[in-house]
Amino acid sequence: MAQGDLLLLDEELAAILSDALEKGDVEAGLMQGVTLCADRAEALCAGREMACARGCRHCCVLNVAVLLPEAMRIAETITATPWSALQKRLEFHSSRERWMDDEERMMRAAFCPLLDTDGSCSIHPVRPLACRGVASLDSGRCKSAFNPTIDDETDRTVPADLVRQTAYDRAFMALGRALANHGLDNRSIELGVGILAFARNPELKTLFISGGRLPRELWG
Ligand code: SF4
Repeated sequence: MAQGDLLLLDEELAAILSDALEKGDVEAGLMQGVTLCADRAEALCAGREMACARGCRHCCVLNVAVLLPEAMRIAETITATPWSALQKRLEFHSSRERWMDDEERMMRAAFCPLLDTDGSCSIHPVRPLACRGVASLDSGRCKSAFNPTIDDETDRTVPADLVRQTAYDRAFMALGRALANHGLDNRSIELGVGILAFARNPELKTLFISGGRLPRELWG
């Protein structure tokens, strides 16, 4: 992402959030901001080569951090339809898996609770910026790299599109800056924990969009 694009995204986000605060509809502004970040990052890497495809779940075992508006948007999406099965998976994940590092997640096959049984992302249209920024250039290498039974001598590196990753990393950081500049909590949170918090407690959304800090237990 060129520096000019980054500056433009900062300005666009500032305009959206300032307008939303003035109109008293912060939630709409945040949703618009998250969408804009994904669109701007994608525009910079659209059409670039990637080996990732629907049903390929190898890397969906890694920790994912999201900003609070991302978690809020995903929570809105999952609760728009019956979500009791997903709620159970999110609760199990939040109580048993949330503290695991990447290595332990791989060893225990602790995949993302949002994965469908066919190995696809159940929230693909609203998936996190961090997930969008990952693009492997060799799915065979992913299969080896994320295989917990592989010996320590095997090369676990995976060739990835660093242009895509940089674009999404910078979009993520721009959103974080915009939140801070408008007095909103800009901490990142573990994906499953953040989604479950907003999905189960609608009052957390009210707290967040009014400039409050979410309970620290969510990070404990
Ligand atoms: S949110 Fe979707 S893409 Fe991201 S780790 Fe979970 S299943 Fe994979």
